[in-house]
This record gives sequence, C-alpha cells and structure tokens, in this order.
Amino acid sequence: MDCLFCKIIAGEIPCHKVWEDDNHLAFLDINPVAVGHTMMIPKSHATELFEMDNVSYQSLLAASKMVAARLKEVFKVPRIGAVVEGFGVDHVHIHLVPITGPHQLDSRLAKPGDHADLAKLAQRIST
Ligand SMILES: [Zn+2]
Repeated sequence: MDCLFCKIIAGEIPCHKVWEDDNHLAFLDINPVAVGHTMMIPKSHATELFEMDNVSYQSLLAASKMVAARLKEVFKVPRIGAVVEGFGVDHVHIHLVPITGPHQLDSRLAKPGDHADLAKLAQRIST
C-alpha cells in the first residue's frame, strides 16, 4: 500500500519518534505549527478516526492522552490541542500540539522544521 505513515511504521521512512507501543506510534510533525507538534497514529492502517472499531479508537485516544500529558510536562503549556482532519495523509492521525492560545492550531502556521532540532526535541520528549 502506498501510504506514507505505513512506510514510517515499517521503518522504510525515518521519523522523529517520541513514543510507541505495539499498536501506536507518536512522532514529531516535520512541518510543525508549534514546537512539539506531534502526530499520533495507529499502527494498523485505518483511514478515518470515526470509522475505527471502538477498541482501536479508544486505545488510540488513551495513547494520545498519555503522550499529551508528557508534552504538557515537557513544554509547560496550559493546553495540548488536538486536531483531526485527515486531508494530508489518508491514515488516521491525531495532531497533538502544545499551545498557549486558541489560534495556534492553524495548519497555515506550519513551517518545515530543522531536522537536527526535531531530533533533539524527540529525544527530550521521549526520555
Ligand atoms: Zn497507512
């Protein structure tokens, strides 16, 4: 299947991983809207969050909650914003974004991240 995220899961394309378990992977968005912008994805390919089976859906949300708590602790922000729209890649992903205000979840704010910085950031979040 020609899916970017499935290739990342398979290790064919590198990512700046922040966390994973058997069923989920969290990694830094390479075009972040804010520092620490993380993507949470299920390892098994699914195209729409609200069409996932309940068990997979609930475990994805529980995994997101856990990583959001870590992001909040690392970045010392009042909120972790969550966005699901799915137009970019056709594999379920939840954007988890450390934010200080309501207008920071705008995808128009996305800028290519520096890979060395992203690598350091991933290290900081994952340890
Ligand atoms: Zn996929």
